[in-house]
This record gives sequence, structure tokens and C-alpha cells, in this order.
Amino acid sequence: MFVKTAEFIASNTDVRKLPEPSLPEYAFIGRSNVGKSSLINAMVNKKGLAKTSQKPGKTQLINHFIINKDWYLVDLPGYGFAQTSKKNRAEWERFIRRYLTQRENLQCIFVLIDSRLEPQKIDLEFCCWLGEQGLPFLLVFTKADKQSGVKSDQNIAKFRKALLAWFEDVPSIFLTSAEKKQGMEEILATIDEINKN
Ligand code: GDP
Repeated sequence: MFVKTAEFIASNTDVRKLPEPSLPEYAFIGRSNVGKSSLINAMVNKKGLAKTSQKPGKTQLINHFIINKDWYLVDLPGYGFAQTSKKNRAEWERFIRRYLTQRENLQCIFVLIDSRLEPQKIDLEFCCWLGEQGLPFLLVFTKADKQSGVKSDQNIAKFRKALLAWFEDVPSIFLTSAEKKQGMEEILATIDEINKN
């Protein structure tokens, strides 16, 4: 898919005020600092479209962008700030879980995972929750340029293995680098494919 246009539509704190669910929607989510903003900007080729890291305590927003006037890209607030209080975490969970389970035009959730790290409990738990809810998700490993391909592959293999303890199968995996623009085409092609069906 060639991205011709990418525009910001709205930021929301209230799931009831989201844009009309008239177009297919794809959400991006992951731990804070995983490289979500960088990935979104690289994918749509527009520096500064998605803002970098929302800090703890700041209002958590669901950001909608429209791509090629054809589908919504949604930037969800990151999870897993070390400093986050229990209250903040509970609020995040309520807000995001409500969005993910109720948004009728949501086609797929891209879960971002730092390819430099061994499997993290918080990422695994989130994937398990998505699986339990029957929500379709794909895995996007980020920052591939930061270490050797062997190291990334090892971490991915460990993550797959951990998920296989819960699931019969593991969703598709993308290895990406926003820095090197690696893996962007593959993600866009997947979205294209889903949009066509
Ligand atoms: P977010 O909090 O998930 O939106 O993460 P950001 O996109 O703000 O990225 C967090 C940090 O990781 C920033 O310093 C980025 O420059 C860096 N980063 C993100 N993606 C990549 C990547 O693909 N390669 C490298 N080397 N650094 C990256």
C-alpha cells in the first residue's frame, strides 16, 4: 500500500465520543517507549504525526488518524510505566479494554514489543487477554536495528514459545525498525489485505 495521505482526526478520552465507526480501524499499542510513535510516523511517512511518549499522569488519549481517506489508524496510550500507580493502571485498563472490546469497526490490533528484550510479563499478559477476548491481534517487534538479527530472532522465538503455553497457534509476527524503515511495507500490505476482504 502506498500512503498518499495521513491526517490527524481526533484525540479522545471518552470511548463514547470516538469518530463514527464508518471505516475499518487498526489499533497500535504497546509498552511506553516501545517505539510506537516512531513506527506510526515511519509507516505513514510523516514525521511528527504521532507524538512521542505520553508521560504518566498525563491524560491518556485515543488518537485517530485517517489514512488515504480509507481507514483509521489508532494510536492507543502505552502501558507499563514503571512509575505508574495502581490507580492509573486500573484506569488505563478500564479505558482501553472498553475501547478494544466495544469498537465495532476494529479489524486488528498491532501489539508492539521491543525486540531487544526477553519476553516481558506485561506483554504476555496483554496478549493473553486479547486472545481470551477473541480479539484479532498481530505482533510487531520494534527496534530491530539496535541489535543483531540473531538476538532479535532469539527473543522472538522465546516470546512465541511463551505464547504457545496458552494458545495453539501464534499470530503473524513482523520484525521492524522505524529507524531503518524495515517491516513497514509488510504491515501496510497486511492492512491492505484485510481491507480488501
Ligand atoms: P513510544 O513511547 O512507544 O511512542 O516510543 P517512541 O516512538 O517515542 O520511541 C522511544 C525511543 O526509542 C525514542 O528515543 C526513539 O527514537 C527510539 N526508537 C523508536 N523506534 C526505534 C527504532 O526503530 N530504532 C532505534 N534505534 N530507535 C528507535
